[in-house]
Amino acid sequence: MPNDNFSVAENVISAHSRDSGHDTLALGIAVAAIFLFVGTGSSALSQVIHAIRGTGVLQNPLIALAVLLNVAIILFGWRRYRDMSHAVLHHCAAEAEARSLAETDVLTGFLNRRSFAKIADQMISDQKGSSRFALVMADLDRFKQINDLHGHAAGDAILQETASRIALVLPANALVARLGGDEFALLIPVDVAHPERVDQLANALIDAISAPMFVKETEISMTVSLGIARSDCEIEVDDAQSVTQALLHSADIAMYHAKRHGRNCYFWFEAAMEGELRFRRELEAGIRRGIEQGEFVPYYEQQIDLKTGKLTGFEMLARWKSPTYGIVNPQIFIPIAEDLGVIDILSEQLIAKALQDAKAWNPQLALSVNISPVQLRDPWFSQKLLKLLVETNFPPQRLEIEITESCLLENVGAVRAMLASLKNQGIRISLDDFGTGYSSLGQLRELPFDSIKIDRSFVMNLTEGKDSATIFRTITALGEGLGLPMTAEGIESEAVLAELQTYGDFKGQGYLYGQPENAEATLERLAALDLLQTSVPAPLARPEPTAEDSADRPDRSAASG
Ligand code: C2E
Ligand code: MG
Ligand code: MG
Repeated sequence: MPNDNFSVAENVISAHSRDSGHDTLALGIAVAAIFLFVGTGSSALSQVIHAIRGTGVLQNPLIALAVLLNVAIILFGWRRYRDMSHAVLHHCAAEAEARSLAETDVLTGFLNRRSFAKIADQMISDQKGSSRFALVMADLDRFKQINDLHGHAAGDAILQETASRIALVLPANALVARLGGDEFALLIPVDVAHPERVDQLANALIDAISAPMFVKETEISMTVSLGIARSDCEIEVDDAQSVTQALLHSADIAMYHAKRHGRNCYFWFEAAMEGELRFRRELEAGIRRGIEQGEFVPYYEQQIDLKTGKLTGFEMLARWKSPTYGIVNPQIFIPIAEDLGVIDILSEQLIAKALQDAKAWNPQLALSVNISPVQLRDPWFSQKLLKLLVETNFPPQRLEIEITESCLLENVGAVRAMLASLKNQGIRISLDDFGTGYSSLGQLRELPFDSIKIDRSFVMNLTEGKDSATIFRTITALGEGLGLPMTAEGIESEAVLAELQTYGDFKGQGYLYGQPENAEATLERLAALDLLQTSVPAPLARPEPTAEDSADRPDRSAASG
């Protein structure tokens, strides 16, 4: 697009110079005609006037014709001159507009990538003495989700608001551009004696952008991740690159580092980050390939009624059986799949497999699946889930979905509607990782949860001192305040189990009952407990479990249900 804009500008400029040449010619002809008229026209013209009035005779009709022609040329020349003057003014305005189009981003009025690189290169090569520059790359966090949820008009409004907030904190001598999408770049002169001013600016940008934005009275929270590279530090410039391109590349790497470290923060570029980014790119490609090849498989963790010791169901936990990396845990690939926008496909694949697997289990056994906040923002999510249930002919009453408090951070109204629709289908909903979020009890009470799961961080060290016990008691008191049954996660020892039982009736899960297992191992476990659904055929064949899979064997079996 910038190329197109530049060619528009170039066409306008060449048309302008062509026309101004014609213009001078027209003016020259008109002036020559005026001289001719002044020189010869006076006597000839009076003859013509007398002839027309009938008071004289036209001695030479050719002279009369020449006079008239002369007058016509003067009029034509003048008119042409006037038209061309207008056209030149018009072209100048068009040229200015085309230049501005070619150099700026229409939505924000900032420079665009091409002009930014050009001007930044100039500024850097003009730098004098010890002056240095920092390039700050800013990328909005999860902007795609805002676009998906609120629409593109709202997305545009957010970008404009972000641009005005950037402009407010920007130093006067800085250069700023929107590089495309939700990416902005800032070139800032660095006072070598006070490099901390760049840190201050980065913090100011983060604060300014994270303040709530309102689009058509809807409050939208937006955060930004920043990467910073300095023109005099560790950046590598190869022959094909300008310094600005090298700075953009390094700042981009630092920005991705910020994304991976929780977003809403900034990092200065360090050479070691380059390898990290390469690895991330490989993982991304691997995840995309893995989805196509069906490499993501469900593992199952037992859920136990602690009072009776009976197995009540399983939580499905995703694993990536990668040909390159082996068995990969969800904490690695789920956030990447969310960033790539493929979490919905991945999760649907997993849930479909899990529903098939669970059909072979005793129908009393429940299946819990974890749902990403990204999926919950998809207005079609409940329909998609229903479709999977219908396709596998799985009773919704056996399915429970687990959502974390981070799902509730924005737009509780939409989440409530979604949960209501899931509950109408008969699906149960539990609040996962309870105690680690910031939701108020009031907010949680508004939502139709069926149970809560106390995060394992509060359970694992329950026996390790008074403080842990006090925290656990507080968390369970909050849970009781909601009037909901509770599941304790992360029970690793008999001691913790015994302690837990003094607090009341819980369901529980944890490595004490065994590590999460693949579908085949789960079937074997259920067969041993006589908990298979006999009337339903075994699930579709799966690849043979690897040695690593079968290494995950239970250390404590659940009692038959
Ligand atoms: P979660 O839902 O809280 O799952 C429990 C995690 O705790 C699992 O880790 C499980 O293996 C681990 N765990 C269970 N018992 C113990 C224990 O006794 N000690 C310790 N140290 N850990 C225990 P995993 O499988 O790595 O899953 C991590 C998180 O990834 C899950 O946390 C869940 O939030 C997410 N996740 C897993 N599968 C999916 C999925 O299919 N979709 C989505 N969106 N998220 C998933
Ligand atoms: Mg869970
Ligand atoms: Mg959990």
